[in-house]
This record gives sequence, C-alpha cells and structure tokens, in this order.
Amino acid sequence: MWMQFSNGFAYLLSEAKNDNSMTKLKLIYEGKAKKIFETDDPALYIQEFKDDATAFNALKRGTITGKGAVNNKISSVLFQHVEKEGIPTHFVKQLSDREMLIRKVQIIPLEVTVRNITAGGMSKLLGIEEGIRLKEPVYEIHYKKDALADPLINEEHALALGLATRAELETIRQYALRVNDFLRKFFEKLNIDLVDFKLEFGRAGAQIILADEISPDTCRFWEKGTGRKLDKDRFRRDLGDVESAYQEMLEKVTGKLG
Ligand code: 5GP
Repeated sequence: MWMQFSNGFAYLLSEAKNDNSMTKLKLIYEGKAKKIFETDDPALYIQEFKDDATAFNALKRGTITGKGAVNNKISSVLFQHVEKEGIPTHFVKQLSDREMLIRKVQIIPLEVTVRNITAGGMSKLLGIEEGIRLKEPVYEIHYKKDALADPLINEEHALALGLATRAELETIRQYALRVNDFLRKFFEKLNIDLVDFKLEFGRAGAQIILADEISPDTCRFWEKGTGRKLDKDRFRRDLGDVESAYQEMLEKVTGKLG
C-alpha cells in the first residue's frame, strides 16, 4: 500500500510482501478494530487490522483511513523491539499491509494500563487535570467487560474472579512495567512523551505473552514541548488531522522522521 505523506513523498507502507503460504481460514473473532482468523497451522492465527474506529465504548464510531495498515506496521516494529527486551509477544511476522501472523493465545480478560502523565480515565476518576507528570508509573488493571466500560479493578478482584493466578498477575505486572521502561525511552528519542497505554496479555500453553497491539489506538503520544496529540484522542475528541497524526507516528517509529 502506498501512502502519501504531508512532505509530498509517497512510500511503500509495508516492505512485507503478501505471504500466501499462510491460508486464512475461519473468522473466529471480530472486535472493534481487528479480526482474528484461524490458519492451517493450529498454533497460529492471523490478526487483521481494520480502519474502523470506535470510542467511548462504541458510542462514537468512525473510520480512520489507512489506520489498519499504520497500526499493523507500528505494532510489528514495537513487538519486535519488546521481544528483544526479553518480553514474549504473540508476534510472529507481518504478512501484508493489514495482516500479522500471531501465536494462538487465550486472552486474559484484563486491560492493563500504565501511566506516566495524567490524562483520560485517571484524570476523570481522580478529578485532576491532564498533563501532570507522575512521580512513579501508575499500573492499573481493568476488567475487560464492554457492558461496564472496562471498570478499574485490583488484583484481589482478578484473583477472586479466577481471571488469572497470582503468579500470572505478577508476571503481567512485571512485563507491563518493563514495556513501559522500554517504550518511554524509545519515544523520548523521537521527541514524544509516552503518556499512557493499554496492553492485553494471553496464555500460550503455560506461558504469559503480550498480545493485541501497541499503536496510536492504544497509547497516548504527546509531542514534547507542544503537547500536540498524535494518537486516538484526535478521533475521540474531534481534534481533526487524525490520519496525518497516525502517519506521523508511523514515520517516527519506522525511523523515517524525527
Ligand atoms: P484511559 O483509561 O485513560 O481511557 O486509557 C488509558 C490508555 O489506555 C490510553 O492510552 C488508551 O488509549 C488506552 N485504552 C484504554 N482502554 C482502551 C480500549 O478499550 N481501547 C483502546 N484502543 N485503548 C484503550
């Protein structure tokens, strides 16, 4: 897929050629931004990224043109960096613009967030302004339940509900904080403040691995100095220039800018 950038250049978004050696079989899950397909290998799935965007528990719906391809590429790059940091992920390889080959996982119904700067849910919950640098990263777990808009819970709730074991929760916490340490420094070099982000984890056999995606849909990225938002808040808050913000993050993450 060729993308036209504001600087007038067009370039090939994904170097990965379509890899027809993997056959896409039955659709087994369709979420707000992604579809998951079985493949002819029982240990592998294909994750397909859509341009559909939703916010506020799907009350707001729209399309961000090119988002699926951008999020696939950004996630592919970031998963590979995170793997190198010793955190196992579901990423196997990027198959095409919108398709990622992933390990089959059983998703743990938790949305794990780490925050470095106040914004969004934390500001609302505690009645504090956005943009305050936190003295320590704030680690949170939310119960993945659309009907309740993913409520904040603690580890005792997760244990009592049997969502994960104590050992699994500890692994998830360690991995999430290590992902934060890595990503914060990575984006620092790109002149971006990593405000907060959401991760999802799954079980692959007995192993806990990072799943889902790491993208402008799931992170808050603020340009240092100006505070300009380069993430899904542009869509959530009707700030305009949504597509160009996603493309700017793609160019930064792939080393073509910044
Ligand atoms: P908040 O709790 O402030 O709404 O979100 C914290 C961070 O996690 C933000 O970077 C946000 O993008 C991400 N996040 C939390 N829940 C979701 C969700 O259901 N979907 C997506 N795409 N991101 C989420």
